Amino acid sequence: MNLILLGPPGAGKGTQAKMLIKKFGIPQISTGDILRSAVKEQSPMGKKAKDFMDAGALVPDDVVVGIVEERISDSDCSGGYILDGFPRTVAQADSLSKTLRRNGSGIDHVLALSVNQEELLARITGRRTCKNCGAGYHLLYDPPKQSGICSECGGELYQRDDDREETMRRRLEVYEEQTSPLISYYGERALLRTIDGMGEMDQIHSALIEIIESSQG
Ligand code: AMP
Repeated sequence: MNLILLGPPGAGKGTQAKMLIKKFGIPQISTGDILRSAVKEQSPMGKKAKDFMDAGALVPDDVVVGIVEERISDSDCSGGYILDGFPRTVAQADSLSKTLRRNGSGIDHVLALSVNQEELLARITGRRTCKNCGAGYHLLYDPPKQSGICSECGGELYQRDDDREETMRRRLEVYEEQTSPLISYYGERALLRTIDGMGEMDQIHSALIEIIESSQG
């Protein structure tokens, strides 16, 4: 089963993807996570991506399309995967569908999480990430046991540069301009289901499961 989680930054795609991994045993493919580790390792791809990411802009399509094509051909993706943060442009969606068609596969569901802008800003600007293990926290909604320290591994928590308010506003504009057209793109292909992303994590998770399971027949 191949899933796409769609929605603006801060809609909860990463959180829901992690819950779906546990339920369905298929991996999450987060282009944002892959790019952040490339930046950390200072690989050629990371060097190319860094300035775009810091500015809240999208990394060029050919870079992310290459990442995803490579990742979905890994053996752990043979039973399906959850795309989180990809596609983000119509060109990326077109490339993905061509690749999948070539492989005789396709997308089963596009699950769009809808959250209003005010809530997105509150969620993102309070977000903190562990430098060491990448675990995510929120200053208000999910604080670590000890301030500034990861409860999982004791690593130092930091705020991603692109989670600062100014960059976040830019990322939301970029979402509106370049990613939101995918709502009608997948709507026209009868793949889209929109879920209210404003509720509790568990409620949203149940709503996603219901959609997925009801259409598995
Ligand atoms: P995320 O963690 O998904 O919010 O992604 C963080 C940043 O990585 C984005 O603001 C973009 O700069 C870059 N990025 C992640 N996924 C994509 C994508 N599919 N296309 C272009 N840029 C991306």
